[in-house]
Amino acid sequence: MSGYRLGVAVPPGSLVVMSAPRVVSVAAASPAQRAGLQVGDELLAIDGRVPRDVIEYRLLVDEAAPELEIRRGHEELTVTVAKEAGEALGAEVSSALFDRVRTCDNHCEFCFIYQLPKGMRRSLYLKDDDYRLSFLYGNFTTLTRFTELDLERVLAEGLSPLFVSIHSTDPDLRARMLRNVRGATSLRWLRALLDGGVEVHGQVVVCPGVNDGDALETTLAGVLDEYPELATVACVPLGVSDYTTEPAMRAHTEAEANAVIDTVEQWQDLALGAIGRRLVYAADEYYLLAGRPFPDAARYDGFPQHENGIGMARAFASAFDGDEAAAVGVRPGFFAWVDGAPAVGYRAPRTDPGAGIRRRGGAGPVAVITGEYGAMVLGPLLAGLDSRTGGTGTPRVRLLPVPNAFFGGNIAVTGLLTGVDVARALADEPEGHRYLLPDVCLSEGRFLDGMTVGELPRAVEIVPTDGLSLRRALEAPVPASQRRSAEPAAVSGPVPVALGESR
Ligand code: SF4
Repeated sequence: MSGYRLGVAVPPGSLVVMSAPRVVSVAAASPAQRAGLQVGDELLAIDGRVPRDVIEYRLLVDEAAPELEIRRGHEELTVTVAKEAGEALGAEVSSALFDRVRTCDNHCEFCFIYQLPKGMRRSLYLKDDDYRLSFLYGNFTTLTRFTELDLERVLAEGLSPLFVSIHSTDPDLRARMLRNVRGATSLRWLRALLDGGVEVHGQVVVCPGVNDGDALETTLAGVLDEYPELATVACVPLGVSDYTTEPAMRAHTEAEANAVIDTVEQWQDLALGAIGRRLVYAADEYYLLAGRPFPDAARYDGFPQHENGIGMARAFASAFDGDEAAAVGVRPGFFAWVDGAPAVGYRAPRTDPGAGIRRRGGAGPVAVITGEYGAMVLGPLLAGLDSRTGGTGTPRVRLLPVPNAFFGGNIAVTGLLTGVDVARALADEPEGHRYLLPDVCLSEGRFLDGMTVGELPRAVEIVPTDGLSLRRALEAPVPASQRRSAEPAAVSGPVPVALGESR
């Protein structure tokens, strides 16, 4: 991974060397059920092959009549499943990777994992650099640990799209930023992936004084010159928490944010002229920092890096204004196609199904909980809503911006809000109001710090993080009869951005 998207989608089982995939659910009337597969069965081999990950598992069980070697308790059995080639097996397994996740050998100054306070969930401290997680979840990889065998597999199995951290096309600067000599040469794999027809999205984490200014110009020129087949390149700011130990890492000034936007927009025009596409995009956060309006929706070309904070605010505003097609929200991720994939990462439910949600009906005053950047995006939208309705028919709506004291620094995105900060903000709020919480703050019902919504001092309504859902929640409160509360399951999954702002 790179930058300050947290909560890499690595289920705990993936940290174990060669743990066989374990069946966690069997679909009714599926070939798996007809063959007698049971929850808890371990799949030791499929047609004599031991799958390394869920991608390989999917390919193996896609065959006609696969033969499964199963361990059930102390027993080992062989089952041949009656199914056609291409027919779904109907069994979900316990993790994405059955061998060890490939960890990152870089030591980037801007890495957010080094900036986490102590005592968080162990999985949050895991630095992965695994092309499989790039394919499955959209994690960015630097390719410093990529090999010829990996390339063969990516091409043979069509693992596309992939997401690559570029940071700089200057080999020396890239090696310095990654603090890894292989950083100088590993973009040769990017060239090879593009030559092989793989769709690749790139990212440049821009660090002021390091790879901005002329260095960013050089990088974008290098991208257009050497890697014009890249689908997109996102320029995103680094995140700096109070826990950084890197004196050179600091937030962008307003002038620096303006300069990044100017550079990106200039290179968009150059790319349009050269290859007919904009290619490069600046994160929403830059527009907020610079106090500039977001580009029109058309300039985001379908929001291909929405998850990475590119155009999230514009898409949110469009959806809030009624454009259902723009209700991108938090996408289910790139895992959705994999039959048998476990519900982790982007695919993890924000709320534990049937549990952990507390709702409150009524038409009382409404407070929308959000991070400080989210408040900058939502403020004008809510003001517009009031004026359009003439103040009638819509409950009084206000924002409840929550400063991020947990991480401190320049961390102001809603997706990195923790339960302890939200609880502190709610403690002083009146009873009897509706409090809307964007679901991007949660993974399976828990905040990043492990707190559940049930531990908050006020009941909250959890709203999907897209403009359309917020608009509907404001206009049609959920009936009190739907109030629910229960303890959610364990946490996994990334924490992207929220309520119409960038990362
Ligand atoms: S050290 Fe590794 S995980 Fe951290 S930002 Fe760099 S590449 Fe990503």
